[in-house]
Amino acid sequence: MPYIVIDSERCKGCYFCVKYCPRNVIRESTMHNKTGYFPAEFIHEQEDRCTGCKTCAIMCPDTAIEVFK
Ligand code: SF4
Ligand code: SF4
Repeated sequence: MPYIVIDSERCKGCYFCVKYCPRNVIRESTMHNKTGYFPAEFIHEQEDRCTGCKTCAIMCPDTAIEVFK
């Protein structure tokens, strides 16, 4: 089953990944990181919806997302 890992400390909260994920399985976290950004987070309750398409990782300007298949 594909899944992603977001490095919350690298994330600057642009939410390109949230906007462009075709399966809507990424959201804004309610917890901020060390630099004060609210990072994106994978919605684990719906992780079976992830297709591993890598759109999120390609869109991320901070290379904070890894996709695993
Ligand atoms: S695209 Fe990258 S930097 Fe932007 S919110 Fe998503 S993980 Fe964070
Ligand atoms: S790999 Fe594709 S489906 Fe999975 S979280 Fe990223 S953009 Fe969404």
